[in-house]
Amino acid sequence: MALLQELEQRLKHAYGTEAAVHRECRRCGTTVTPTERACPACGSGEISELSL
Ligand SMILES: [Zn+2]
Repeated sequence: MALLQELEQRLKHAYGTEAAVHRECRRCGTTVTPTERACPACGSGEISELSL
């Protein structure tokens, strides 16, 4: 069942490591990665999270 395994791999790739939430700085709008607690551009700790 190679086709089924390939499909499973694609699903894992799509939903596995990538966060389903978009995070960005409230102050300057810079995209903030899930590992960062503050904005890398302006240092603001106010991060808005948008569910995709
Ligand atoms: Zn910022």
